[in-house]
Amino acid sequence: MADSPEVESVRAEVRAWLAAHWKPDRSPARSLAEWIAKLVDAGYAAPSWPVEWFGRGLSPELSAVVADELRRAGAPGGGRDLNDLAGNTIVAHGSDDLKRRALRPLLTNEATWCLLYSEPGAGSDLAAVQTRAERDGDEWVVNGQKVWTSFAQQATHGLLIARTNWDVPKHLGITFFYFPMRQPGVEVRPIRQITGGAHFNEVFFTDARVADADRVGEIDAGWRVLQTALAYERVLLGGSEQSVDNIAGRASDDESRNDSEHGAAAPGSADPATLARRLGRDQDPLVRQAIAHLYSLRMVNQWTTSRGLAELEHNSSSSAASLSKLAMSEILHTAARVGAQILGAESMLDGPDHSDAASVNRAALTAYVNSIGGGTDQIQRNILGERVLGLPREPQVDRDIPFRDVRKAEAVRRFG
Ligand SMILES: Cc1cc2nc3c(=O)[nH]c(=O)nc-3n(C[C@H](O)[C@H](O)[C@H](O)COP(=O)(O)OP(=O)(O)OC[C@H]3O[C@@H](n4cnc5c(N)ncnc54)[C@H](O)[C@@H]3O)c2cc1C
Repeated sequence: MADSPEVESVRAEVRAWLAAHWKPDRSPARSLAEWIAKLVDAGYAAPSWPVEWFGRGLSPELSAVVADELRRAGAPGGGRDLNDLAGNTIVAHGSDDLKRRALRPLLTNEATWCLLYSEPGAGSDLAAVQTRAERDGDEWVVNGQKVWTSFAQQATHGLLIARTNWDVPKHLGITFFYFPMRQPGVEVRPIRQITGGAHFNEVFFTDARVADADRVGEIDAGWRVLQTALAYERVLLGGSEQSVDNIAGRASDDESRNDSEHGAAAPGSADPATLARRLGRDQDPLVRQAIAHLYSLRMVNQWTTSRGLAELEHNSSSSAASLSKLAMSEILHTAARVGAQILGAESMLDGPDHSDAASVNRAALTAYVNSIGGGTDQIQRNILGERVLGLPREPQVDRDIPFRDVRKAEAVRRFG
């Protein structure tokens, strides 16, 4: 199908700009930073953000065209409005002062973020967070604990949800902060995983501080801000067939090193169509049917993801984002199953001598990352059931009582 005149015009504009500014043979490091700065100043790093906030005010579709042109040219740094959920959340809910201070460093990678949501007693039910923030003049004092925090060791900032009011129902007493990680009151403890890597962390706050100017949205209204951030995360997870580790282009050195140490094949080599062709199984009708099924799931999900992004332009949350994330779980599990079907009995092997099998096995295991991170499959189904199908809400005995009176994880431990 031919591109619309609008798409053609954006393509031509980006190509002309790239011809004038992009030098593929640039030397690394310093000039990469210069290139990213140039891209940000031209508004091409996040083209759907408003012009005054480092963007060009384009629609998500046209912004994707810009990202596509940058990718084709091999120019890094594009598509940040598609994958920077911290920036997107600040654009949607931050004060002008915070936007002025936070957005450019995010786009230039001087600032990096982690998600300070989950706690030992609050995962699927994030409204149960007990990390507290108490006002002290122009600042807030934070005490408590987060868990499963990816990238906390590297991040300069965290998107923090903390309880600021204990006398109202749980959803109404949470505030959202753009929290500075590098300070004495923050202790990051890596959690060693079965793979040997340490991607996750526990994060402890002891009288840590965050300026009120770094609050995102109104006091006690953080739940709404969180819905925006979660929807962007779900669109991101739903739109990209990579693990959570790689999604923000921030795979930790530990994880990459771990992969090569274990001799896993390069990512993508488990792609069923490529695998079937390489192993001469691509004429098998059952294999062809399985690959076609997977292909249709992927195509439909690309459209759902675009719909999710478009919905997010107008709302603070999006059911399409949940649909897209749930569909991606299905796609990842299906891709791994089809890979095993192509390999047959060989899929029971593993290790450096069996790189195809190792790849398929890795794909089967990492598919669960998407089924849990960013809200589990079951939670996405609940959201879709309630918001799309109109099913009755789950009974929630603690929804309407002051959070102070809710029976909490700590109490359960004490009485259990
Ligand atoms: C790869 C990865 C990266 C992550 N990164 C981060 C991060 O950076 N920051 C962060 O804050 N968190 C992160 N998490 C944590 C993740 O968000 C939580 O693990 C997830 O939300 C589930 O919470 P939980 O582990 O407490 O499980 P629980 O909420 O205890 O759930 C346990 C089981 O019960 C089911 N369940 C719970 N409630 C319901 C319900 N109402 N209806 C039906 N079923 C239900 C769940 O689906 C699940 O199967 C990450 C997790 C993974 C796997």
